[in-house]
Amino acid sequence: MSEGFEVAVIGGGTAGLGAAQVTAAAGHRVLLVEAGRLGGECTWNGCVPSKSLIEAARHAHAIARAESFGIRAGEVAVDFPRVMARVHETIERIARYEDASHLAAAGVTVRSGRATLAGPSDLRVDGEPVAARRVILCTGSRPAIPPVPGLDQVPYLTNETVFDLTTRPRHLLVIGAGPIGLELAQAFRRLGSEVSVVDVVDSLLPREDPDIARIAGDLLADEGVRIRLGVTVEAAEFEGGTHRLRLRREAEQLILEGDALLVATGRRPNVEGLGLEAARVRVERRGIAVDERMRTSTLGILAAGDVTGILPFTHAASYQGRIAAATAIGQRRRADYRVVPWVTFTDPEIAHLGLTEPEARRQHGDDITVARLPYTAVDRAVIQGEVRGLIKVITHGRPVLGNLGGGEVLGAHLIGPGAGDLVHEFAVAMQARAFAGRLAQTIHAYPTMALGVQQAAAQLFPQGRATAGDLREELAAD
Ligand SMILES: Cc1cc2nc3c(=O)[nH]c(=O)nc-3n(C[C@H](O)[C@H](O)[C@H](O)COP(=O)(O)OP(=O)(O)OC[C@H]3O[C@@H](n4cnc5c(N)ncnc54)[C@H](O)[C@@H]3O)c2cc1C
Repeated sequence: MSEGFEVAVIGGGTAGLGAAQVTAAAGHRVLLVEAGRLGGECTWNGCVPSKSLIEAARHAHAIARAESFGIRAGEVAVDFPRVMARVHETIERIARYEDASHLAAAGVTVRSGRATLAGPSDLRVDGEPVAARRVILCTGSRPAIPPVPGLDQVPYLTNETVFDLTTRPRHLLVIGAGPIGLELAQAFRRLGSEVSVVDVVDSLLPREDPDIARIAGDLLADEGVRIRLGVTVEAAEFEGGTHRLRLRREAEQLILEGDALLVATGRRPNVEGLGLEAARVRVERRGIAVDERMRTSTLGILAAGDVTGILPFTHAASYQGRIAAATAIGQRRRADYRVVPWVTFTDPEIAHLGLTEPEARRQHGDDITVARLPYTAVDRAVIQGEVRGLIKVITHGRPVLGNLGGGEVLGAHLIGPGAGDLVHEFAVAMQARAFAGRLAQTIHAYPTMALGVQQAAAQLFPQGRATAGDLREELAAD
């Protein structure tokens, strides 16, 4: 492949768009091949529609609790078709900036078609050979469907179809209590559906810090989202418009019925049908194997985004796409995942950064400091009437310097209003390897949620703790 394009990017989702734009901005000829719609999963079936639906649900919830502020708004009436129409309007607005004309203006050649590899240096688009010196595979992921007997015979929903509903389910059954399942479960509940979630895991959100996951479980239960954990779905059936899940928890058997079924049991990388074997690209269980420069096992072929299975988030896909492009055009950049926040957009949000407390204890024993600040101590949260939540910071002494300055941030875990934004203060501190005390030293405006970050960091010091005796009482009572 010596003529034609310097770089061909396969897949126009977040990773592919990032890779193509970086390559074009550096003055190289780049081709972007997309088999479906530019924008990928995040724009069409993922982040954008789910967050739009959650936003509608948040409004319904706010109206329902307005009475506690002395505002009577009457009964909440949900116009479900209108809610879904707005979800699609939001998608269209965002997709507009990811279309072929914007990309052409940025110097990217876009081709609609399915790309395959017929050999290590033989790229085809819809079977036609295309010359490119480097190929970046950004083919993303799709819903993983569990091998539940009968599931393939019933009309279940996934994130690819749930946003096309025009009738609100009376009772939505959700298989999968991960971030996607819980976000959608809460949104539908707030929009007026009954919702039941089942999962085989024994504890909710096992990747999250246990304190945070416990609060999340309590909050969702209080809103009426029924979550059953530690259950196996033994069979799925559908008859007369009713879905029936046959469940088992140890010796106990249970049947759940609903009029809609959502499967949200994780993601699978899109590696099939790409010709990876012919191209000798190594695939592992989680996806295409890459090194820190996003190079696969085959010279000249790189990969980025969900297809690598490293971190299934839009911000990670964008980051990796840019690194892959840099590598493809001869620059030296390496992926560094030391500081990657992620957010589950339940309301309130759950934010995750770095090590959880059990992970930190496994790595550092008792040589860690944990500060906890309940949202009851954050005046802004009291003003908003949203005091259920926690900011938790975990630090570790630095070599030689020990716990000076509160130590270095190992992790921060939050659940509460604005958590998804607040976590970034900890991320910057972690990235800069700053003493956690810098967060406590920085004057934060009153009364903001961000002041909670300063207050939480202050808990790492005796003075901070001394001014917060009541906090410890709150925690003890919790
Ligand atoms: C419901 C849901 C909610 C989510 N919410 C969030 C969130 O709030 N925040 C967050 O960070 N992440 C979120 N995610 C994850 C996020 O959507 C993904 O991490 C991200 O979209 C991955 O981008 P990607 O470019 O790797 O893949 P994709 O966006 O999947 O793009 C891959 C593209 O490749 C194309 N393609 C595949 N094979 C070929 C081929 N052979 N030839 C040509 N084109 C091909 C596909 O058509 C697709 O357009 C969510 C995901 C879901 C499902």
